[in-house]
Amino acid sequence: MSVRVKPKSHYALEVINVTKKFITGSPLPWGAKREVLAVNNVSFTVRPGEIFGVLGPNGSGKSTLVRLIATLLIPDSGTIKVFGYDVRKEEQIVKWLINRVSVEASFFKKLSPMENLLYGARLYGLNGREARSRILEILIRLGLKREEIFQPMEEMSRGMQQKVALARAFLSNPSLLLLDEPTTGLDPRSKREVQALVRELREEHGTTILLTTHDMVEADTLCDRVAILDEGRIVAMDEPRKLKEKVASNGSEPTLEDVFIALTGKRLEGG
Ligand code: ADP
Ligand code: MG
Repeated sequence: MSVRVKPKSHYALEVINVTKKFITGSPLPWGAKREVLAVNNVSFTVRPGEIFGVLGPNGSGKSTLVRLIATLLIPDSGTIKVFGYDVRKEEQIVKWLINRVSVEASFFKKLSPMENLLYGARLYGLNGREARSRILEILIRLGLKREEIFQPMEEMSRGMQQKVALARAFLSNPSLLLLDEPTTGLDPRSKREVQALVRELREEHGTTILLTTHDMVEADTLCDRVAILDEGRIVAMDEPRKLKEKVASNGSEPTLEDVFIALTGKRLEGG
């Protein structure tokens, strides 16, 4: 059962005035509570086939934003639509249209990547034999060795597990793919392999991709447009080239890092 849903909008994604706050602290009524505005009145749209980057330091609200779009959290206010379908009122349709990859992806650790992905493929309604050859193709393209594909996942590095998580998401052929820090913690080579696959996915299937990152170079090379997030607010949004043009430079080409510092007065450290 491969669900094809007709778009209701010219936009793949519409995020309109979205706010989400968390109350943290003591569970006791008299205990001190702290409010965190994780996503603060955020608005943007993404066109079909676009690779849209959300760039920001740790704690800037990237994962919260992704989880709101993925229907895993409910916004306090504002509207989110995926291909015109409201994440709250038409949650099931939105779930058919999206897939999300985050760093805490879960697997059956005793099973191999192939077994895990065949399980995933069955959930997505793919035919077994067809799924098997596609899984092999994707995993090999991501740089897994044949023996790794058939070994229990518990023996794999985190980077390798991240690749398997990506392969699983690609398998479902989502219309909107949400990648939350897809290359964080990967070695430079794996990073490039993942980035190449993201590009191919867009070229071959026209998949719309929203990815979060705190890697300037990644945002610059991979994304058509970038929104810079700082403490839950979008402080700038444009094509990487245009963002860089806005920052005056003395001869040398500015980086997105320079843009971030110019806008926030802060440094965008990794981690
Ligand atoms: P990022 O992904 O950019 O690192 P997050 O979206 O994870 O940022 O977090 C944004 C802010 O919201 C942080 O201050 C974080 O501590 C807070 N936060 C995120 N999730 C929760 C939660 N479930 N409960 C309380 N606070 C949260
Ligand atoms: Mg995060």
